[in-house]
Amino acid sequence: MLKLNGYSRAHMVETPDGLITLERDMKRAKPGTRMRFPQQSASLQTRWCSSALKIDVGRRALTNQSRFNGKRVLFITGERREESGNRARYNQFEPHACDRRNGRTARHVDAWRPVLEWSEEDVWAALERHRVVPPVPYRLQWQRSSCMACIFNSPRIWATIGHYFPEHAHKIAGYEERFGVTISRNRINVVDLGKTVKPFEITDEVALRQAMDTEYRLPVLVPEGQTWQLPAGAFSGEECGSV
Ligand code: SF4
Repeated sequence: MLKLNGYSRAHMVETPDGLITLERDMKRAKPGTRMRFPQQSASLQTRWCSSALKIDVGRRALTNQSRFNGKRVLFITGERREESGNRARYNQFEPHACDRRNGRTARHVDAWRPVLEWSEEDVWAALERHRVVPPVPYRLQWQRSSCMACIFNSPRIWATIGHYFPEHAHKIAGYEERFGVTISRNRINVVDLGKTVKPFEITDEVALRQAMDTEYRLPVLVPEGQTWQLPAGAFSGEECGSV
């Protein structure tokens, strides 16, 4: 985001042999400037966070590890049609963008979206059945498990961030001022956006503490003797996540 006549950074990828660093091809790279937040759009060029933080990293992880060459690889993701008009048109199974099954590397990569047809009810029922602890964002009443400060957050989510994580909201508003471009298309900074509505009332102290921790410290499965509980954010419909 702070790139100013500079180059994109290297990617870091976890592998069975440890963390590897994938440098940029400096012969082909051109200097560029961002100095603004990703903008709200279905286009991945404008909403560059999804590609820069996730999609490109995933692709380079596949294309830069020889252990995938000559192998059959399944790339599994969890999009659901119900989430957006864009996702409604996805295929459930198709060759991945990094597939080279007929190429020199014979890298066969398929993309599979096993929960594409699931409803939100199906998702919570599966988590309950397997006693998986609901992810922290839903416990804080977010309706999606995405970046906390997602560019698609509703005013109510910004109000909640402003109330419980004020430094976070002010830091983002500071960048908006510095860039001269807000996240909102209505040119209102995130702190002022949040002032238009009431924040959620969060009573889950454990989830609140975890939200600002850089390490995940909660159990993944509900401990024996405790009851699985539907989180407050389930079925809330509050906008906060990618399209
Ligand atoms: S969750 Fe939101 S901010 Fe995060 S990468 Fe996706 S669109 Fe961007």
